[in-house]
Amino acid sequence: MSLKKPKLLSPVGSFESLHSAIRAGADAIYFGVEQLNMRTKSVPTITIDDIKEVADVCKKHGVQSYLTLNTVMYDYDMQLVQKIVNTCKEDGIDAIIASDYAVFEICKTVGIPLHISTQANVTNVESVGFFSHLADVIVLSRELTVTQVKHITQEIKRRNIRGISGELMKIETFIHGALCMAVSGKCYLSLHEKNASANRGACVQNCRRPYQVVDLETGNELLIDNEYIMSPKDLCTIPFLDEMIDAGIDVFKIEGRSKSAEYVFTTTKCYREAIDAVLDGTFTDEKVAVWMAELDKVYNRGFWDGYFMGKKLGEWTKNPGSIAKEKKVYLAKCTRYYPKIKVAEFLIENGTLKAGDPLMVLGRNTGSDKITLDTLMINGAPGETAMKGDKITFPFESALKANDKLYKVVSDNG
Ligand code: SF4
Repeated sequence: MSLKKPKLLSPVGSFESLHSAIRAGADAIYFGVEQLNMRTKSVPTITIDDIKEVADVCKKHGVQSYLTLNTVMYDYDMQLVQKIVNTCKEDGIDAIIASDYAVFEICKTVGIPLHISTQANVTNVESVGFFSHLADVIVLSRELTVTQVKHITQEIKRRNIRGISGELMKIETFIHGALCMAVSGKCYLSLHEKNASANRGACVQNCRRPYQVVDLETGNELLIDNEYIMSPKDLCTIPFLDEMIDAGIDVFKIEGRSKSAEYVFTTTKCYREAIDAVLDGTFTDEKVAVWMAELDKVYNRGFWDGYFMGKKLGEWTKNPGSIAKEKKVYLAKCTRYYPKIKVAEFLIENGTLKAGDPLMVLGRNTGSDKITLDTLMINGAPGETAMKGDKITFPFESALKANDKLYKVVSDNG
């Protein structure tokens, strides 16, 4: 049986993440601008004025770009929606991801492809048929099992459900990242407590905190032992990615627009390799163990298989935040790049550096890159240890910009 190769869709919340996603092998990226996407609190770095640069960088690398416009929308938002959609059309963004009917209508009028967001909560093939008059791609609800997803993809073929372009409807699912205990973020916790609406992308993540249960008869207070009872672990499908591919899903989506560039790089790289391994018949338990160890190094709250394997409730995390096995500690800023000889110069601003320390370069136009320097050039001469105020130079293939950052990578075993 021949398997269909899914497109790998990576999250982008900064230019560093954009370049990381591309370098790690994403087929497409998605991002948001201004306040009308589901990560408005934590993603201030890309604005409407940057849309053209994102589109151009993606085109140059043969990567598709999608813009999310999927919050609850009010009448006073319409002018901005129109402006964003017009800009996307003019600048060459490939599609808008939306869930509001007004945005559907504006995309249709402007003539830009539409993807139906997971916020529309599509859970059955009849709904796929309904949306086929508007779009070609649907991001399914995260609360389906892999069997339910496979049924939908098979029925699309059997019933020959074609989207607005005339092609068979395409199904997209989340394969990695944070999950809400509420159905796809339809949640009032944050609005209730902080007047910050999750449905407008401003969630303050109240669910990620410890809570006490109070027995109202006795007044006894019970702290829920070691579990954050409303904070699920993160979704990770690598161990059963072969089943996900067998389900006929067209697009695999990684969550994490508010996460770091190294998270984007590592998750994209692991899933790129895993997809390719399934397709070329080299997907093994040993490889899965290696990918899991890599994924464990970047932001995560522990992993579980989400709802894909048919579990009814979430597995709760035992930690309020990430349990990533590695963290980066700021070391230096780029002061110069010599393009002819491809050498970077950095000024150490914090901590010390020895030859052999694992490092990460984070560049606006290069993304994240792990390196190790076997020898050190300190203030123009070979040296043992560089410290605050020293300038170090080393060969670096990609052109860096002033103020790009250098970090030391340290293990963080809590
Ligand atoms: S408070 Fe938690 S469950 Fe509610 S939307 Fe935010 S992250 Fe999701």
